[in-house]
Amino acid sequence: MDLLYPRRCPVCQDLITAKEEHVRICTECEKKLPYVREPRCMKCGKELYREEQEYCLDCVREPKHYKRGYPVFVYQAPVKAGVMAFKYHNRREYAEFYTWAMLKRYEGEYRRFAPDGILPVPMYPRKQRRRGYNQAELLAKGLGAELKIPVFTELLRRRIDTVPQKELNDKERINNLKKAFHISGNDVKLKRILLVDDIYTTGATIEACAEVLLQAGVKEVCYTSICIGKGDS
Ligand SMILES: [Zn+2]
Ligand SMILES: [Zn+2]
Repeated sequence: MDLLYPRRCPVCQDLITAKEEHVRICTECEKKLPYVREPRCMKCGKELYREEQEYCLDCVREPKHYKRGYPVFVYQAPVKAGVMAFKYHNRREYAEFYTWAMLKRYEGEYRRFAPDGILPVPMYPRKQRRRGYNQAELLAKGLGAELKIPVFTELLRRRIDTVPQKELNDKERINNLKKAFHISGNDVKLKRILLVDDIYTTGATIEACAEVLLQAGVKEVCYTSICIGKGDS
């Protein structure tokens, strides 16, 4: 199997050499992983530049409905290329490493939040059929299996393939996106939900999903992601 499908480092995507076989990523990348460092925004989890801040500018400007965010890496080299390949170039096997990284970093936080359901951010169905998978769903399933928490892939759905327009401000973008998500069925019994996505950029997607879930009766929503954009404040 290894000859046909040589293992690649999920970060730089070079082949993993025989002597590194036991590791998840190559040793060079391991040294360079851009973990989100303290101080972090108390809301979205983004790295902050100043110790005295509690929230990033974005979360101050646009207060979020979700409770808290748990992003693992800053969206930059060397992680960026691997995440793009995971998302767009069928490297679905990288899910294993990213799930592992999420758990390594946040297992305690996930367990304290104690969600009764884990939900991937849904993809527009036609897009998912074309791609063959939803990368957020692979992550959600990996987390669910490890944490023994059920994963719901059909509860939250995306009905229109919204392309958020650049000229919209944050509020308009969220309103626009909110129309894209809906709950299947009309009764959500879950109280606490952990949303899973690959990259948190403006936060509009997570915020739109959270609002739809809260309106449906969910009490608290947290999110986790592989990456988050670099701090803006
Ligand atoms: Zn590497
Ligand atoms: Zn923030």
